[in-house]
Amino acid sequence: METILRAHKIRLCPNNKQATYFSKACGVARFAYNWALARSKELYGQDNSYKFNEAAIRRELNAIKGAQFPWMLEVTKCAPQLAIKDDLNSAYKNFLAKRSEFPKFRKKGIHDSFSLSNDQFKVNDNHVHIPKLGEVRLAEQLRFSGKIIAATISRTADKWFIAIQVEIQKPEPTHTGKSQATGVDFGIKALATLSDGTAIQSSKASRKYENRLKRLNQELSRRKGAKKGERQSANFKKTKLGIARLYARMANLRADETHKLTTMLTQNYGLIGIEDLNVRGMLKNHNLARYIADAALSECRRQIGYKSEVSGSRVVVADRWFASSKTCSNCGAVKETLSLSERTYHCDICGFICDRDHNAALNLKNYALRA
Ligand SMILES: [Zn+2]
Repeated sequence: METILRAHKIRLCPNNKQATYFSKACGVARFAYNWALARSKELYGQDNSYKFNEAAIRRELNAIKGAQFPWMLEVTKCAPQLAIKDDLNSAYKNFLAKRSEFPKFRKKGIHDSFSLSNDQFKVNDNHVHIPKLGEVRLAEQLRFSGKIIAATISRTADKWFIAIQVEIQKPEPTHTGKSQATGVDFGIKALATLSDGTAIQSSKASRKYENRLKRLNQELSRRKGAKKGERQSANFKKTKLGIARLYARMANLRADETHKLTTMLTQNYGLIGIEDLNVRGMLKNHNLARYIADAALSECRRQIGYKSEVSGSRVVVADRWFASSKTCSNCGAVKETLSLSERTYHCDICGFICDRDHNAALNLKNYALRA
């Protein structure tokens, strides 16, 4: 059976001792990477005909590390090993394939990370067990079951994460035929509307955030510093920071909601019609609600893309110029204009009356069926 690789990034909850170990391991990985890069540059310069021999370089470092860099032995041997074998090696490969520039030295504090091979850690329900370090608590359980391949531990701001790579079996596509087809309209009023008329609302919490955001934005425009050229007051900066924090929380919540939605769609439908992202509309749009809906749409698109790979669903993206809102799903007539405030579609030709978003979803379903 065919297999595919999936990675799940989970927040770690290390104690102080474990966090110190992680920092140290990141340092050792960075050191090994930089040492190997400096050594190979010394030997070969930036000759682009040179094939980076990761094994030879690692042997060299292993031979001297005990005597010259004994602190390297304080952390898992995977940290230096995989930094050279995987990270630097692929950096060289990308360079030779002209996909990227010559590898650069790593700097402290930028993408701090180290990797573990699958014999160096074990995952059970809520913990990851690392030899010599013990159990480190996971903020959530591993989403996939299958053969664990490797893991990378990294730091973002002051938080630690583990990305666990799992090889899972690609299931037989559960979806065949067109009986389970749906169109999805991502809107402002509801998070999504399906062609059977189901409207999936964003959560109460999400709407509360949106209202608070609206208030904060109004507050910001009243603060001293809002006008061009005006010096930004302390209160202006305070409100601005509040908005940034709220955005981050909203994004987290949205991600949660879109995951639920896209899982439901790919599990239940074999054919999914969605609209193309109107990039031009997005760029000139200053409407906040529309902005949030567009951002959710692009995230949903991405998730439906990779989840449908597993479920076997076929995703049909309507042409950018397909008028999903202006077209009558009953007779196919296309309206010249339809303002955003018109929440109900009323066809002048056949008299069809339908909720605006439901009508758009029906059109997207029909589009997918025709494709
Ligand atoms: Zn009509």
